[in-house]
Amino acid sequence: MQPMLRRGLMLVLSSPSGAGKSTIARNLLRDDPDLSLSVSVTTRPRRGSEIDGKDYHFVTEQAFLDMRDNGRLLEWAEVHGNYYGTPMTPVQAAMDKGQDMLFDIDWQGARQMFEAVRADIVSVFILPPSMEELRARLERRAEDSPEIITQRLENSRNEMRHWTEYQYPLVNDDLDKCFADVKAILRAERLARDRRLMAVTDFVESLLE
Ligand code: 5GP
Repeated sequence: MQPMLRRGLMLVLSSPSGAGKSTIARNLLRDDPDLSLSVSVTTRPRRGSEIDGKDYHFVTEQAFLDMRDNGRLLEWAEVHGNYYGTPMTPVQAAMDKGQDMLFDIDWQGARQMFEAVRADIVSVFILPPSMEELRARLERRAEDSPEIITQRLENSRNEMRHWTEYQYPLVNDDLDKCFADVKAILRAERLARDRRLMAVTDFVESLLE
């Protein structure tokens, strides 16, 4: 039996900042050559450890608004006072080739993507084990000022209210377990009937011939 072609899927990961989503995303991309990251455009200033073009495309507000107004973003949102958006072209290219993509986006972006391409989406929401742990993780990261940390905690409450819009809610009380759960979800979703409909139909027809 030949390896079966299938449609690419879009793995949408959301969580309040500090719940461990970035680590899980990084580990997934490290371990899984069939998954590539959708690199967002943002008007947020670059953090010290970030690389332009790899973590984000850092752009001016004017450049962002031009992309948005010319229909070059699959979704966009304002988060913590900055604009973020998903460039359309790389996503189309990946889907056409049957490749899977990972989206680290907030609930506003996830909602726009569900509306646009629901059948291709696998959505995971990562919750922190407690608010104390969330604050501690944001403080340990030490890349943001105390005011920004307070603003992010407030936004976290709002983000978490949207967990019901996702297919798979996970609590990250153990990073290894949470990571294993995301990998299991991805593995099962890659086998789903609707993603392999044409290939399995051909295969079964050949069995029945
Ligand atoms: P951060 O500034 O910490 O990198 O990201 C802040 C929030 O913006 C995170 O929840 C992240 O998932 C979200 N985000 C990053 N890129 C995008 C994007 O392209 N679209 C949307 N809607 N949210 C994004």
